[in-house]
Amino acid sequence: MQAKMDIIHISAECYPVAKAGGLGDVVGSLPRFQNELGHHSKVLMPMYRTPYLYAHDWEVVHKASTNLGHWWFDYTVIKEKTNVQGFELFLIDINGLLDREKVYGYEDDTERFSAFQIAAVHWMNTWNALPQVVHVHDHHAALVPFMMQHCYAFKRLQYIPTVLTIHNAQYQGSFSWEKTLYIPQWDSWKRGLLEWKGSINPLASGIKCSWKVTTVSNSYLHELRHMSNGLEPLFEYEKGKCTGILNGIDYTVWNPENDKYLTEHFSVQDAEAGKEKNKGILCERFGLDPQKPLFIFIGRLVGEKGADLLPQAIADSFKFIGRKMNFLVLGNGNAATESQLTMLQSIAQADYNVFIGYDETLSHQMYAGADFLVMPSRVEPCGLNQLYAMRYGTIPVVRSTGGLKDTVIDVGDPGGYGITYNDATVGDITHGIYRAVSLYNQKEIFRSIREKIMDLDFSWHRSAAEYVSLYQSFQ
Ligand code: ADP
Repeated sequence: MQAKMDIIHISAECYPVAKAGGLGDVVGSLPRFQNELGHHSKVLMPMYRTPYLYAHDWEVVHKASTNLGHWWFDYTVIKEKTNVQGFELFLIDINGLLDREKVYGYEDDTERFSAFQIAAVHWMNTWNALPQVVHVHDHHAALVPFMMQHCYAFKRLQYIPTVLTIHNAQYQGSFSWEKTLYIPQWDSWKRGLLEWKGSINPLASGIKCSWKVTTVSNSYLHELRHMSNGLEPLFEYEKGKCTGILNGIDYTVWNPENDKYLTEHFSVQDAEAGKEKNKGILCERFGLDPQKPLFIFIGRLVGEKGADLLPQAIADSFKFIGRKMNFLVLGNGNAATESQLTMLQSIAQADYNVFIGYDETLSHQMYAGADFLVMPSRVEPCGLNQLYAMRYGTIPVVRSTGGLKDTVIDVGDPGGYGITYNDATVGDITHGIYRAVSLYNQKEIFRSIREKIMDLDFSWHRSAAEYVSLYQSFQ
């Protein structure tokens, strides 16, 4: 029996409290699975004004004041009373700074997440029993290891092992040295541990200071050494402490047999009929033809996801393959891509529709009702969409990169079950769609692949255990 460990996750997102992408899904599940393994894992995150806040009961566990440079602020730590998520959930409330509706996208995000991290470390510093591992996620929490090790006020925390998980290295949270006072008084000899290319770079600092760094897939880790928005030499230099641990998916949330967002449930045994009903509902709502294969895209409409390629790829598919398929897109992000996708409606008529926005319910219904999921990502740290899609019997048509490379094997290769292509280009995507339409018409093979993907195991059990082994290497 492994010794029980105390672990705290510090993150900007955690589903269902607040989620903007995969980070939220991971932090909302991993701690529960670590607890199921017999550990004591909890989550600390900012208190935003999301519906979850009002729907749950909270108790105040700590109140104090501290400062962000010359600005003194009060903060309150509240805890969800019943541990309904399967772990203790703590939120830091900083009046006027964190308590807003959205997670990101404000001009003062640097101030918001710097103050959040200061309050987090300030609070941990008051604990009698210190955690055995502080596990921070992405740049919004990546200054924590530096603060624990090199800020005078927090020296009590300096020997606690720290892990940084990088869910996305494109965003690094850089800010200017003019804001140096945002880091509580620190040993100025350690300047190099904050700096990258002339700025304070929280993600780079987290990579330098954390005891271990993980990325959410192995292939992504290799790619970061060649393409990581300026951090390439750092990933090369620090490769010895970096590991890839593939994300799992949470089958209590993502299960077509009892998904709370679906009215028509199904399992691998009745997938054909179950998916047909879900497809019927979707096609009715969006004016599509249920006789044709349905291709979906779900995600942030940004360059990383290859979303800008979609309008042309859809138009070219109609032109070169014919009106043999439907497309339904759900997402928001880049304004030009949003408007191109909206304009496409006028030429694509009954074979295409788009929903601009973020809609958790619709996303589940789309995974359930679609035949294929298109993911032409330029960069994909792990990718959860393809894992959800497969669980719901929807075949992924993906660009082979990062986590997509690690989780989707092409049907043409031994043991394969998806459609892959090498480049994030309109030509490659269109060819992938062409192959998918051909597969759809070979009914027996199509059905057997659908059954196969629904049975693949991407559960958290394996990944949660891998994180725990990593922590145990510190002991
Ligand atoms: P990333 O974190 O880079 O955005 P991931 O594939 O890791 O990408 O995770 C994306 C998550 O966000 C999935 O749960 C996906 O279903 C969800 N998602 C993305 N965009 C939307 C949207 N517009 N509406 C609903 N869910 C979305």
